[in-house]
Amino acid sequence: MTAPQPQPGILDVTPYVGGDGGHGTGANRPIKLSSNENPLGPSPNAVEAYKEVAGDLATYPDGGQTALRRAIADIYKLDADRIVCGAGSDEILSLICQAYAGPGTELIHTEHGFAMYSIYGRIAGATPVVVPEDERKTDIDAILGAVTERTRLVFLANPNNPTGTLIAQSEIDRLARSLPPHVVLVLDGAYAEFVREPGYDPGIALVDGARNVIMTRTFSKVYGLGSLRVGWGYASAEIIDVLNRVRGPFNVASPALAAAEAAVRDVEYTEHCVIQNEIWREWLARELSRAGLPSDPAHGNFLCVRFADQATANAADMALKAKGLIVRDVSGYNLPGCLRITIGDESATRAVARTLTQFMAER
Ligand SMILES: *Cc1c(COP(=O)(O)O)cnc(C)c1O
Repeated sequence: MTAPQPQPGILDVTPYVGGDGGHGTGANRPIKLSSNENPLGPSPNAVEAYKEVAGDLATYPDGGQTALRRAIADIYKLDADRIVCGAGSDEILSLICQAYAGPGTELIHTEHGFAMYSIYGRIAGATPVVVPEDERKTDIDAILGAVTERTRLVFLANPNNPTGTLIAQSEIDRLARSLPPHVVLVLDGAYAEFVREPGYDPGIALVDGARNVIMTRTFSKVYGLGSLRVGWGYASAEIIDVLNRVRGPFNVASPALAAAEAAVRDVEYTEHCVIQNEIWREWLARELSRAGLPSDPAHGNFLCVRFADQATANAADMALKAKGLIVRDVSGYNLPGCLRITIGDESATRAVARTLTQFMAER
């Protein structure tokens, strides 16, 4: 008798490994700078809204996600009917793969692209096609050159993770214009709120102007709600209709819906977090550069810091760990010799700069 066999592709998946650290408690709890979480936490209004739901845990959540979709639509000036919410933007990415990819199809992402694109693609039975980047920046011509009649999806984060780099809006526009109509362009805006570049569009104009573009967003990064798992997608009515057929009817829990709604409406707090992030990101980049550690101009809430080689990066990682600072080794993203460091609060950021400056001085 043969054992049960999963669908093709599933055993090719290398399970995702999240950022280390941060799950302990007490005074010796390490400072987690490995998952791009918001060091300032969510809006106090979100915490309040979350607690209020505790009085009504027996009731199923609103499967239509109406209040949260309306709040997102109000704040970002979107059509609420063309928004779908998920258990993290991860779930939206997964729904997209289930709906549009499958055996015999291909999906494209760039060499330093987010690991979940390939994982969800393989689970759906599709073949990931990885294209090179140009000095850690997305190369639109490389993507276009990889498109075949089997291509169904192109995944692109701008700013990208783990590089933190941003490419020009004109390049994104060119990609959207040049893709064949049967290919869905997935613009992953996990870090969109942090971008302060004039003329930047996280995908809203592109979605409004095309039938084959979807923008995904998350409450896990600037909104500080990683524990609750909330994300959303914005696309044409046809794509949203498809994703609504694929998703579970109650895929986002009531406490998550309530907290996310309060968080997105607290525009002032979000702006405060964005400004603090920019101040400390630029400060840290300068300090590390002065210590001999370069990083590309960064547009998210992290730096991708380059060391001479992997051995030096490992030693630096150890030096940071010894000070209770947990960062992310990104050699698995084809970035050997690099550490991705989330921008923490002032004290954590100063501790990172101090530790790495001393590390470099002693080498
Ligand atoms: C963090 C991240 C996400 C998604 O996170 P969720 O918590 O599932 O919303 C998606 N894409 C990129 C590039 C990310 O860095």
